[in-house]
Amino acid sequence: MSDPDQLAREALRLLGPAPENWVPPRDSFDHNVLIVGGGQGGSAFAYALRRAGIGGVSVIDAAPDATQAGVWLTRARMHKLRTVKNLVGPELGVTALGFQAWYEARHGSEAYAALDRIPRTDWAAYLDWFRRFLDIEVRYGTQLTEIAPHEGAAVPGLAVQLVVNGQARTETTRKLALARSLHAAHRRVRRRTGGIALSRRWPAVQREGPGHRPVAGCDPRLQPGRLCHRRRTPGRPAEHAARHPGRGAAHRRGPVPGRPRPA
Ligand SMILES: Cc1cc2nc3c(=O)[nH]c(=O)nc-3n(C[C@H](O)[C@H](O)[C@H](O)COP(=O)(O)OP(=O)(O)OC[C@H]3O[C@@H](n4cnc5c(N)ncnc54)[C@H](O)[C@@H]3O)c2cc1C
Repeated sequence: MSDPDQLAREALRLLGPAPENWVPPRDSFDHNVLIVGGGQGGSAFAYALRRAGIGGVSVIDAAPDATQAGVWLTRARMHKLRTVKNLVGPELGVTALGFQAWYEARHGSEAYAALDRIPRTDWAAYLDWFRRFLDIEVRYGTQLTEIAPHEGAAVPGLAVQLVVNGQARTETTRKLALARSLHAAHRRVRRRTGGIALSRRWPAVQREGPGHRPVAGCDPRLQPGRLCHRRRTPGRPAEHAARHPGRGAAHRRGPVPGRPRPA
């Protein structure tokens, strides 16, 4: 049987080895970059950083193993991706490392042409291959829980609290890349996985601008860790409310009259 990875191997050969790590070493840091999330975003970051000559990169994922990471084999119920099949993925333009090349090497070009969208289980299998083929190591069972400044280091950096298979530990990194997708965006998922805390050692954040208003009496220099801004919620002009009585109800606090509570 012919080698399905032959094209990908040839592309890597022609591309040549990744550049040497050019980032100056710093004794007080465990990593140059810590990538949180080993899904498609985290894997793409890891590969891109390697090709850019940035070493000392580590990828962690809270899921116990690759089958539990991301959404494709866990939460997703639809059979196919919504994204069109020929968008550039984690291969960053190296077509021999892309989904089409991977799929055609296993099922033939006619089978690929017949696909309207990418089946999600094939996408999961491709991502798994991408990580293994490119030796992108993910430390599974490792959850980020807190981010704090790395005090006392010669250059700015972060000290992160991790829970590794149930055990707490601290690691230090110069940069942090969050590739947590739904876990970062979706309130319900965030509650289930435990959100990431910003350490109280951070100076308070004072944001300014039209989207935020300062919190009265909050001084960012005196109250470390406190958010000294609130998102501005503009009031509706009275005449607009009179014209559209139902509108804006979804943004009010508390239950909306006549609307069932979310489960
Ligand atoms: C049903 C469904 C269909 C979708 N269809 C599409 C589509 O067609 N096209 C599309 O582009 N997108 C689609 N999405 C969105 C999809 O989730 C994202 O595009 C994609 O998974 C994002 O990849 P990612 O690497 O950023 O995150 P994910 O693949 O979700 O990976 C994030 C990883 O971060 C890990 N993680 C989270 N928090 C922590 C922490 N604190 N510490 C350590 N690890 C952590 C998680 O375990 C997870 O493995 C769909 C989503 C769903 C649910």
